[in-house]
Amino acid sequence: MFVYSLPMATRFRGITVREGLLIEGPAGWGEFCPFPEYDDAEARPWLDAAVEAAEQGWPAPVRESVPVNAIVPAVSPSLAHARVVASGCGTAKVKVADAPDSLPDDLARVEAVRDALGPGGHVRVDANARWDTDQAVTAIRALDRAAGGLQYVEQPCETLDELAAVRRRVDVPIAADESIRRAEDPLRVAVAGAADIAVLKCAPLGGVRRALAVAQACGLPCVVSSALESAVGLAAEIALAGALPDLRFACGLGTGALLAADVASVAAPRDGMLAVPRRAPEPTRRLQVAAGPERTRWWHERLARVRLL
Ligand SMILES: [Mg+2]
Repeated sequence: MFVYSLPMATRFRGITVREGLLIEGPAGWGEFCPFPEYDDAEARPWLDAAVEAAEQGWPAPVRESVPVNAIVPAVSPSLAHARVVASGCGTAKVKVADAPDSLPDDLARVEAVRDALGPGGHVRVDANARWDTDQAVTAIRALDRAAGGLQYVEQPCETLDELAAVRRRVDVPIAADESIRRAEDPLRVAVAGAADIAVLKCAPLGGVRRALAVAQACGLPCVVSSALESAVGLAAEIALAGALPDLRFACGLGTGALLAADVASVAAPRDGMLAVPRRAPEPTRRLQVAAGPERTRWWHERLARVRLL
């Protein structure tokens, strides 16, 4: 077992360092990396996911590789264009609503991304719950025009009621991401008519098997996304995408490049595809990425508390 501390290549989700704890069992390595602000109860499914990987391994995949999307943060149109071309992906996810007055910049960025992908590519946007319903409707219509058709918009607003209201007013499909934190949430999203698509992450859902059960129960098409894990936890998310019976969208699993260092060397996506692993990679760079004694103690104490729940 060891605690890692990885510098981010760029600030993402407001953080510059990603930390977590890796455990080893008979089936391989598993990762326990709930974000620091999560309480112990919220952290518990992350431990279940780590234990699944270490003790049991994952169900057999139904495909050899999975498509991933390019990630376009709030950068200039020319940088966005270059990033998408360099990715080799046919789908790009563009972060929007980064600031209250960002719509003109968002439109220019989305136009550049469409230009980079060509007419056959897919452009989706992620607002990370920053809009109210009226802002969302206005922005989604404008972005849909600028993109020459959006594939979907991820989490335009915060609450299920708002998502449902926006969904009734726009033609662009709505994906729920932040609304899906726990295993019960996708069912609530579906029942509320709040989304067309569910974004699943196996760590907060308690592992690959539970995420597969959630996908089946909610009845929505699913996209798998990482929780910004190291190469070990990311492997579990790719295994989930590999095992989903129905995978019709590219997944948000090309996040390895967001980390400036990792616990193991991992294959970058090739032509927008990632190979589905049978087990997590051996963490070979433990010395280089080990957290200091104070943070190591903090993670060990957290693990001890969460284990008792
Ligand atoms: Mg999202």
